Amino acid sequence: MSIDPENPPPRFISPSPESEFYWRSGADGKLRIQRCGGCRRWIHPAGPVCPYCHSRDLAPEPVAGTGTIATFTVNRKEWIPGFEPPYVFALVELDEDPTIRISTNIVGCEIDEVAIDLRVEVEFEHNGDWFVPLFHPMVHATGDD
Ligand SMILES: [Zn+2]
Repeated sequence: MSIDPENPPPRFISPSPESEFYWRSGADGKLRIQRCGGCRRWIHPAGPVCPYCHSRDLAPEPVAGTGTIATFTVNRKEWIPGFEPPYVFALVELDEDPTIRISTNIVGCEIDEVAIDLRVEVEFEHNGDWFVPLFHPMVHATGDD
């Protein structure tokens, strides 16, 4: 896929040819991470060569889209146009491989609810052909919904 100048990436997205799938993946509601066909390691951010075994047999594979907040910062100034402060930047460790850390925003909760080790799951901010992966706190199965 090539990038349509009429429909540029939103916000901070700057996709490379290898990572563009990541920003498109949410079209079917699934998060995808690049995976090596040689050593089966997950690779993020995506690149042209596996950093572990140097294979070029790389392809996106769906992941559960669940993880844990490893670290976060609260931004209260509008450093980036389009971001309404306050907002939370976080690194989310994926359940498939905690060494994979997704830089993202935490949404769908109060700032005070965001915490290290909070369980989160992906959602997508749809913007034209782009689907920005964001994470919200995982809903607990309490049965009183
Ligand atoms: Zn590999």
